[in-house]
Amino acid sequence: MKIRDMNWMQVEEYLKKDNRAVLPIGSTEQHAQLSLCVDHILSERVAVEAAEPLNVPVFPGVPYGITPYFMGYPGTISLTPDTYLRLIRDILDSLAVHGFRRIVLVNGHGGNAPVESLIAEWRGAHPGVAVKFHNWWKAPATWGKVREIDPLASHASWMENFPWTRLDGVRYPSARKPLLDAARIRALTPAEARRYLGDGNFGGYYQRPDEDVLAVWRAGVEETRAVIARDWP
Ligand SMILES: [Zn+2]
Repeated sequence: MKIRDMNWMQVEEYLKKDNRAVLPIGSTEQHAQLSLCVDHILSERVAVEAAEPLNVPVFPGVPYGITPYFMGYPGTISLTPDTYLRLIRDILDSLAVHGFRRIVLVNGHGGNAPVESLIAEWRGAHPGVAVKFHNWWKAPATWGKVREIDPLASHASWMENFPWTRLDGVRYPSARKPLLDAARIRALTPAEARRYLGDGNFGGYYQRPDEDVLAVWRAGVEETRAVIARDWP
C-alpha cells in the first residue's frame, strides 16, 4: 500500500502490528529516448508491487539522486552527495521516530551507492532499527533474468524500456549499440560524457519484446518482495 493512500490514523494502527516500511529512491536523469524519470518510476513501481500483498506501506519515492556525470543532458537533476545523504538521513530519522524498525530502501540508480555508507553509520546510532539497501535491478535473480534474455544490457537500453518508461510517439533505434565503458564515464566532465555516450544508452538493444521485459519485471518484483518479507535480523 502506498502512503499516499493512507492517513495518519491508519499508519498509527499499522504500527501496532507491524514495523516495516519501504522507501524507493531513484533519479531524474537522461535515459536516452526513455523518460528522464526511469529510475524513479521503476524503483517506486517495483516497491509498490512487491509490498502490495505484504501490506507494507511504501513512502513516496525520492525522485532525485546523485548523477553529476549526466549534467550535459537537459532535464537531468543532480544533488550533491552532501545534500542527498542529509535528505536520506532525515527521512530515516523520521521513520525511526514513528516506530518503524525494519526499513527497506529500494534503489533504482547506481549513483546513489553512497547511501550504503550512510546506512552503515546510521545503524550504529540506531541499533534497534534494521535497514536494508536493495538495488532492485542488479539483485542476483533479476540480473540473472536479464543475462538469460540478452547479456548485452545496460543503462537506458532495453532492460529499462518497459511499457511504463517509454514515451508515446518516440521511435527507438533498431541497432544493438556496442557496450560502453561505464567506469570511464565517472572520470569525464559532463560535456565529455555526452560526447562519449551520444544518445545516452550505455549499450545493447533499445527495445525488446514486452514478454522479455515483463519477465525481468516479474523477477524484480518477486526478489524485492522477498527482501521486504524475509531475513530480518
Ligand atoms: Zn536507469
